[in-house]
Amino acid sequence: MKKRIVMALGGNALGSGLAGQMKAVQSTAQTIAALVAEGHQLVITHGNGPQVGMIHQAFEAAATTYAHSPVLPMSVCVALSQGYIGYDLQNALREALLDAGITKNVVSLITQVRVEAQDPAFNHPDKPIGSFLPDEEAAKLRKTGVLLMEDAGRGWRRVVASPKPQEIIESQSVKTLLEAGQIVITVGGGGIPVIATDNRLHGANAVVDKDWASAVLAKEIDADMLIILTAVEKVAINYNQPDERWLDTLSPQQARRYIAEHQFAPGSMLPKVEAAVSFAESKPGRQALITLLSKAGEGIAGRTGTLIQQ
Ligand code: ADP
Ligand code: MG
Repeated sequence: MKKRIVMALGGNALGSGLAGQMKAVQSTAQTIAALVAEGHQLVITHGNGPQVGMIHQAFEAAATTYAHSPVLPMSVCVALSQGYIGYDLQNALREALLDAGITKNVVSLITQVRVEAQDPAFNHPDKPIGSFLPDEEAAKLRKTGVLLMEDAGRGWRRVVASPKPQEIIESQSVKTLLEAGQIVITVGGGGIPVIATDNRLHGANAVVDKDWASAVLAKEIDADMLIILTAVEKVAINYNQPDERWLDTLSPQQARRYIAEHQFAPGSMLPKVEAAVSFAESKPGRQALITLLSKAGEGIAGRTGTLIQQ
């Protein structure tokens, strides 16, 4: 059966560094092209952790050398990362499709995500970004009002808020492009976080979780399936312990029980399970799948991965 699918790519689909990313997107594109060949309608979303860190760090370093170099707000760093990653992914996918004899347009869309100014996350920034800083540098920055957190003994890092995505501003454009037969790359890095006041959207100093934002998009474009592709084939309970058990299926009720038992690590597997549950519960028949990129086809066919459904 042909499905409308939102596919969220994890960090491993994009590699790291300029050459690493160029290489990683090639095999990512092969996998995506195979799914397109099966007739599925695909929307691709992706993370941006290392890339946004690199962009942020580069401008930070420039500002210490050139007095007039701007320190970029997080929203602008996310926008730059969408352009950079979209550029590589869009070209790799174009090539893989042409090689497979498929004529379809691929387009990367700069995507904004509305968050609430009153989101409690703004009072508790907890998402580390950018480089690790020594004590002296951290102290200097703190005086300028920058928030920092000690990160597992490795040094100080800036922290920003990670508010919940409320709405994808460009979702109607995504739908229109999809219905015109195009493949859309969107919600990069969870989308550019914006706060709405009247007709104006202004960038927020935050990053939005890409799995959460992908679930919101999947609902808004009425997708059949949300696929979260990551570094594990299935979700586990008692992960990395002797009694580890890999799950083939997971109901929202079971998921909530496991969440309460802290089975899923915050910042990695927890947002994926939460996003999957939120999509699966949003309408009867909607399914979410968590698996490896290389197993996406098998997963859609029901042969592997963890399937989350009501
Ligand atoms: P991505 O870049 O795809 O978002 P993350 O590192 O954020 O990847 O999240 C995926 C990781 O979550 C897995 O590689 C795994 O190490 C970790 N993880 C934490 N808890 C679990 C669990 N219960 N089951 C499976 N993986 C888990
Ligand atoms: Mg992640």
